[in-house]
Amino acid sequence: MTTSGLPTRVAIALGSNLGDRQAHLAYAIERLREFLTNVRVSSIHETAPEGVDEPQPDYLNAVVSGGTTLQPLALLHRLLTIERERGRTRPSLRASRTLDLDLILYGDDVINTPELTVPHPRYKDRKFVTEPLSEVW
Ligand code: AMP
Repeated sequence: MTTSGLPTRVAIALGSNLGDRQAHLAYAIERLREFLTNVRVSSIHETAPEGVDEPQPDYLNAVVSGGTTLQPLALLHRLLTIERERGRTRPSLRASRTLDLDLILYGDDVINTPELTVPHPRYKDRKFVTEPLSEVW
């Protein structure tokens, strides 16, 4: 955990498959810029939903990296707030979503708490994360 006050480099995965997907991602990127420095934004990848039982619209995915002085939980709470601002609901586990923001990497930190797991547990198996991540990390 960073205690020096220097920014820690983080990677955040963005996903949307409901409503105006471009607008949800654009909104999230603008909000992330408010507390990240040296922001890098990947290209947007359109991907088929994975692991879902019912047909769902395709996703738009991207990854943003940048530096932050926020501690991990404070950062997670900012992400959840931004999701709520775009009307995110959780009717079921893999339901379509207006906006999903996952904290993928927080520097080299390994975090295992009930609320937050970093690196994100499944990110290496998800091409829709690893491909845009490779553009910005
Ligand atoms: P989801 O429905 O996939 O957006 O999951 C959101 C919940 O997962 C949050 O309320 C977090 O408490 C938890 N969570 C655990 N690790 C992470 C992470 N690395 N990034 C985002 N959410 C996480």
